[in-house]
Amino acid sequence: MGLIGIVGGGVVGLCAGIELLEAGECVAIIDDDAAAQAPSWGNAGHIAVEQVEPLASMNTLRTMPRRLFIRGGALALPTLSLPAWLPFGLRLLGAASPSRFRSGCAALGPLLERSMPAWESIAERIGAPELLRRDGHFVVWHGDDAASAGRASWEMARTGTAQVRGATPDERSMLSALGNRGVAGAIRFSGSGQIADLGALRGALRAAFIARGGTIHEASAVLGLDHGRARIAGLDADRVIVCAGVHSRGLMEVLGHKVPMIAERGYHIRANSSGWPEDLPPVVFEERSMIVTRYGPTVQAASFVEFSRLDAPADPRKWERLERHVAQLGLPISGPFRRWMGCRPTLPDYLPAIGRSTRADNLYYAFGHQHLGLTLAPITARLVRSMVMGGQTELPLAPFDIQRFA
Ligand SMILES: Cc1cc2nc3c(=O)[nH]c(=O)nc-3n(C[C@H](O)[C@H](O)[C@H](O)COP(=O)(O)OP(=O)(O)OC[C@H]3O[C@@H](n4cnc5c(N)ncnc54)[C@H](O)[C@@H]3O)c2cc1C
Repeated sequence: MGLIGIVGGGVVGLCAGIELLEAGECVAIIDDDAAAQAPSWGNAGHIAVEQVEPLASMNTLRTMPRRLFIRGGALALPTLSLPAWLPFGLRLLGAASPSRFRSGCAALGPLLERSMPAWESIAERIGAPELLRRDGHFVVWHGDDAASAGRASWEMARTGTAQVRGATPDERSMLSALGNRGVAGAIRFSGSGQIADLGALRGALRAAFIARGGTIHEASAVLGLDHGRARIAGLDADRVIVCAGVHSRGLMEVLGHKVPMIAERGYHIRANSSGWPEDLPPVVFEERSMIVTRYGPTVQAASFVEFSRLDAPADPRKWERLERHVAQLGLPISGPFRRWMGCRPTLPDYLPAIGRSTRADNLYYAFGHQHLGLTLAPITARLVRSMVMGGQTELPLAPFDIQRFA
C-alpha cells in the first residue's frame, strides 16, 4: 500500500491523517510549525455550529463601513495590502449576491450540522473527550440599543443546530460581575461548544496520529508535478493532500490551480486570570467584536479581521486595542499579555476547498476553512477519508471544488 503525504499538521491535516490511518492507510504529515504558532492553536476555541450563513453576504457588505478599524471597528483594510484585498473584495462582491449566498448556506449548513457529532466522535477516539465542552456560549451587550438590535438580529438569524435564548437573571448578574459595567442584554446559545485547551488538543491529536502508525516530518514541503503526478520533494508519497491553511495557495498555484485565498488575519492577547470563572463558556462582547475564551489558567481575548498580505508585519495597534477593551470593561485579565496574530485561510465565498485536483489525479486538498477551521476539521477529515479511498462522500463535494474559481 502506498504512502499518503499530508502537507500541513494543523487541525485539518491531523484530523484527516487520523481518519486515513484508521481506514488502514499509511500516512506521513509534513509540517513546519514546530513552535505551534499556526491558527489551529491560537484561535478562539469556539465550535461555532451556529454560523451557518457564509460571511460572503449582503449583510457583511452593508455593515462594512461602520465596522472599519479606523472607525473603532474590527475590519482592517491596510493600504499597503490593497493589491491583496482589492481582487479578493471584487470576488467577494460577486459571491455575496443573494443567489450565491443561498447556495453558500445550502453547502455550509450540512457541514456545520455534522460538525459537533464529528467532534464528539474524534475526541472520544483520541482519548480526550474532556477537551470538548458542549455548553454553548454567551453573547453580551453593554448598551441598551445595541442589546435590543443585537438580540433581534440573532433571534431572526438561522443558527443551524444551535438554539438561542435570553440569559437568565442569574446568568446576567454573573456576566455583569465579570467587569465594571452592567450588562444591558445577553443571550445564551446551546448546541455550540468549546475546545478547552488548544495546546492539549494539538498534543492529543499528534499522539493519536503517531499511535496509529503515522509519522510526522518537521520540514517545509515543496510540491512539484512529475508526468502529471503530484509529488512532495524528498518523500516517496503516492498520494498527496494539501492541508496547509493559508499556505495552500502557494502550494496549489505551483501545480497550476487558481486559489484566490487571502490571509484574513486575527489577533489575540492572553494572560493569567484572576477571577474569570473556570467553567464559563466563551463570551462574545458583540459591540467590541471580541470573543473571550478561558483556556486552563489563562484567558484569551481575540478579535479583528485584517485582510492582508501573508508576509505583512503584525500591526501592534490591534493588540493595544484589545488591551484597551479588556481594561475599559474591567475584565479580570491582567497583563503582561502574550500577543499572537494568525491568518484565517479565506476564499471569497467563505466556503472551504475540499476536493481532488484536476491537474494531478493523485492530489487532494482540504483548506480555506476561514473562521470555521476548528469547528469543521473533523467533518472535513471524514469527507477527505471517503474521497481519498474512492468511496461515496456523505455530502456532495461539488460546492467545495477549487475549480469554482478557475
Ligand atoms: C483569531 C482567530 C480566531 C479564530 N477562531 C476560531 C474559532 O473560534 N472557531 C473556529 O472554528 N475557527 C476559528 N478560527 C479559524 C481557524 O483557526 C482556522 O480556520 C484553522 O486553524 C485552519 O486550520 P488548518 O489546519 O487548515 O490550517 P493551519 O492552522 O494554518 O495549519 C496549517 C499547517 O500547515 C503548515 N504548513 C504550511 N505550509 C507548509 C509547507 N509548505 N510545508 C509544511 N508545512 C506547512 C503550517 O505551518 C501549519 O502548521 C480562528 C482564526 C483566527 C486567526
